[in-house]
Amino acid sequence: MTIEKKIMHFDLIIKYSGTAKIVFTMLLLFILMDLLFPIPELKQYSKEILTRDGTLLSAYLTEDDKWRFKTELEEISPELIKAIVEKEDSWFYWHFGVNPISIVRALYKNLISGKRVSGASTITMQVARMLEPKDRTYINKFVEVFRAIQIEISYSKNEILEIYLSLLPFGGNIEGVKSASYIYFNRPPDKLSLAQSIILAVIPNDPNSLRLDRINDEIIKERNYWIKKFRDENVFSSNELDDALEEPVEPNRFDIPTLAPHFSYRVKENFNESKIKTTLDLSIQQTAEYLLSRQVKAVFYKGITNGAVLVIDNKNSSVVAYCGSADFYDDGSFGQVNGITAIRSPGSTLKPALYAYAFDNGTLTPQMKLADIPTDFNGYQPENYDLKFYGNISTEFALVNSLNIPAVSLLRSSGLNNFTNFLEECGFNEIHKQKDKLGLSLILGGCGSTLEELTRLYSAFASKGRLDRLVYRVNDLEKEEGVEVFSSASSFLIGEILSRINRSDIADLTNYSKLPKFAWKTGTSYGKRDAWAIGFNPNYTIGVWMGNFNGRGSPHLSGAEAAIPLLFDLFNAIDYDADEKWFDIPSELYRRKVCSESGLLPTRYCNNVIDDFAIKDRSHNKSCNIHNPVYVNLDETIQYCTECLPRDDYKKVVYSIYQPELTVWLSENNYNITLPPPHNHNCTAMFSEEGPRILSPTEDYEYFVEENSKQEIVLLAASNGKVNTHYWFVNDQYYTKTKPGTKIFLKPETEELKITCLDDKGRGEIVRVRVKYY
Ligand SMILES: [Zn+2]
Ligand SMILES: [Zn+2]
Repeated sequence: MTIEKKIMHFDLIIKYSGTAKIVFTMLLLFILMDLLFPIPELKQYSKEILTRDGTLLSAYLTEDDKWRFKTELEEISPELIKAIVEKEDSWFYWHFGVNPISIVRALYKNLISGKRVSGASTITMQVARMLEPKDRTYINKFVEVFRAIQIEISYSKNEILEIYLSLLPFGGNIEGVKSASYIYFNRPPDKLSLAQSIILAVIPNDPNSLRLDRINDEIIKERNYWIKKFRDENVFSSNELDDALEEPVEPNRFDIPTLAPHFSYRVKENFNESKIKTTLDLSIQQTAEYLLSRQVKAVFYKGITNGAVLVIDNKNSSVVAYCGSADFYDDGSFGQVNGITAIRSPGSTLKPALYAYAFDNGTLTPQMKLADIPTDFNGYQPENYDLKFYGNISTEFALVNSLNIPAVSLLRSSGLNNFTNFLEECGFNEIHKQKDKLGLSLILGGCGSTLEELTRLYSAFASKGRLDRLVYRVNDLEKEEGVEVFSSASSFLIGEILSRINRSDIADLTNYSKLPKFAWKTGTSYGKRDAWAIGFNPNYTIGVWMGNFNGRGSPHLSGAEAAIPLLFDLFNAIDYDADEKWFDIPSELYRRKVCSESGLLPTRYCNNVIDDFAIKDRSHNKSCNIHNPVYVNLDETIQYCTECLPRDDYKKVVYSIYQPELTVWLSENNYNITLPPPHNHNCTAMFSEEGPRILSPTEDYEYFVEENSKQEIVLLAASNGKVNTHYWFVNDQYYTKTKPGTKIFLKPETEELKITCLDDKGRGEIVRVRVKYY
């Protein structure tokens, strides 16, 4: 290396080390400024509620009262992006936030003209200004340059463009191309024509005077200027631009959509993201809205002014339709009250859960017999809806016909506490809150629950007994959070029983040709204030409530009359012509023969057997207790026990011997029952069975008796068929004797009554009641 070359090399080192120092210093300075002045926060966006396919259902103003939608590039037509980028900053994809050439050009122009000419701002610099509005001074321009570089470092080009398109001003409280597209053109920003895209590119130049909702001449002028410019610069094809030039412009301002208002509001209140993609299916939602408002119109003259519908897709427990009221905007019917979350009396809709609970704990099978006879539950005397009693009926008959006494008896035998604990586990909030105050009337609707809680519970029957959290957001679809509350066997049985069509609460089937199979249960609250119908099949669970938000009742407000037609319409419309697919029989369910009269396992004395279902390792194995052999004399007038059985002249006859209360009811109601003959009078043996049972009055009952009135108390006791006479004592004084099952009357004379009933074998029962005079 020659000396000269060495000197040159040294010069270069000095020269470049100077540059390096400058670069290094600037870098340090930038890092310091970046730490001191961190990038401004992005603005808050409007909350958007979308359907599962991305259609905008509803949106909400930001806290600063702006329509400002977070806009993603794939939501916008490419023409709109192209028009805006070409117009504002054609080097956008190439520069680092600042375009030195245009800055130099702008400075030069400013010097020449002596005033400030804009145009040097890149899209990134504009974003900086939008995030942090400032007066236009040279200092602030410098800040903008710094911010632009900062933004370029923090965000990708596409992210910067998205922020820009979300913040562009369009006059008034409209910000961003998406809001503008909905408000000015009533469509999403990927459905714009080229002419509309160019208009949206133009308005931000002067958003306060280029108002598309007022006069359009100025806008058309600006639009056409840019159409020509784009033609000169070959940005779009001339054919497209020719069409754009011809497109008329109407002054318009549309509202942001407000579809499914109750649903949207609920989602907005429950989730925080600015853009929420929900599971709602707009076509099912609109069908449900239409059918609900049609039904409300049809029953309006009957004093029923509102209703609510919830549709769950059983595939993934997602909410696909949600109508909180028939018309959100009808103040007269309190349309803004949400009937899906309102706490109402559920009527009989909890009964299937109790039966399933009893199937699962093994005490009940579908053919087992239950007694539907007048019963006093410590002063609580429920009646059936039709005020009739049906006697000895099967479990499935009691459930599908919604009989009240069997349900209350079943709740008592299952344990009120056990069952309320169970309902708490199933997410019944109000029941959880009222727990200590609830009585046996709970099963007839003497508690509070919501349509959402009930419909969700029924969806568990459609999901093999698994109770899932209802899914509102597409993002939650994959989460498995279910708990098994019923076995798949009892769920299947409930579906089988409740899909029977031989019942009173059914719609007129001639209206439907391709109605899918589904199971359903109706409910009517006390005082006819709420009508319910909830149904499910493998595809959907649908809950319907009809009633008045002011709580008024109507004689027509029953599940069968007011809610069933809508439930049938909904299944018919939403699941029309579905495959006749039904639930598979679970492997733990098996068929077994039972005695037709008791529904229990047949003994050799049972003549008729029928098929029943039972659940492996759960269902009881009790044998028939009705069919009993009795020793009688040859003409069946005297009954013998083993103690008094003669050596000959007797035979063994099988009688149907029911529990005493049922025997009394059956004979009072002219059922043809053959009781065994009275026991041998000469027999001295004591019976081993229990003695008489006092049916009225009940222990600890309080009578309210009007003073000096002739009000009387009914005395009634039942015994098994071997007893002939009851002897009654009041306060240990003999009163009278009766045949078992015969009512007598007592006029109370003291405030405390001790009532004793003895049978002819000396066995007895005592009850104590109090009488209060008023
Ligand atoms: Zn039997
Ligand atoms: Zn005897």
